[in-house]
Amino acid sequence: MLSYRHGFHAGNHADILKHLTLLALLDRLLDKQKPFSVIDTHAGRGIYDLGSDEARKTGEAEAGVGRLWQSQSTDPLLSQYLQLLSDFNPGSQLRRYPGSPAVIQSLLRADDRLSLIELHAREVALLRQNFHTDSRLAIHERDGFEGVLALCPPTPRRGLVLMDPPYEVKTDYRQVLSVCEKLHRKWSTGIIAVWYPLLGRARDQGGWLCERFAQKKFPALNRLELTVGPQAEDLGMHGSGMLIINTPWQLPERMEAALQQLPTWLGDATKVRVEQL
Ligand code: SAM
Repeated sequence: MLSYRHGFHAGNHADILKHLTLLALLDRLLDKQKPFSVIDTHAGRGIYDLGSDEARKTGEAEAGVGRLWQSQSTDPLLSQYLQLLSDFNPGSQLRRYPGSPAVIQSLLRADDRLSLIELHAREVALLRQNFHTDSRLAIHERDGFEGVLALCPPTPRRGLVLMDPPYEVKTDYRQVLSVCEKLHRKWSTGIIAVWYPLLGRARDQGGWLCERFAQKKFPALNRLELTVGPQAEDLGMHGSGMLIINTPWQLPERMEAALQQLPTWLGDATKVRVEQL
């Protein structure tokens, strides 16, 4: 039984990168009136309690969103993210963090659709508790890699897949690559956004994943990375990245502008990389 629990990590620097990217992608989909579909392959529970023992134990949210949530920004994307955080936390304390299902749900229109896939029963029960009243959403208790292939191409056909596995097992990297190849063959116009961690040198596979993606020559492939410290030999995660297939127009520029603001809160060691592959 795998034991990854996102409750320990919700609201950390990796979530900031992932959820800013998600907002930027959704913003492009909202440019047209035609409805869209979103599939979240590893959805988690959707909303996280930052006052929980899990969150307090690691202090990752405190070192992440905790540093910026009460600020303001002139960057449109960051300002949208900060607004979402304050909508979830109307008081003076940061207690609730919107995971990817909540970020997506906040922007859906009446005819847009969201499929949430999650394998672990405990998280699925919380997802159902948090989102069961919204008929635009479907919750699937199954493996995200196998589930996304079964659900694609979706109806409506415009849209986006967010693939955010925990990489608890090394084979996840190969599986991400192989599922993205199959997915792109089934749904060539779909946007695919894959999150990956940047770990200590002894464990890091992020570079390997990006090289393999580049070799496959996926269309409009971009890599966005946010690191908050130097890479060490065998320390934990010092940053993370997003690989995007079928990147919408001007998304890299918009993301770069937003990410460049983050050192103000996350510290001078924070580095941003935006690259077309
Ligand atoms: N996407 C979420 C967000 O941004 O709020 C966070 C997801 S968390 C990084 C990864 C999730 O994947 C965990 O909730 C874990 O239970 C779930 N998971 C692990 N293996 C899975 C699998 N094979 N299929 C679907 N979900 C899985």
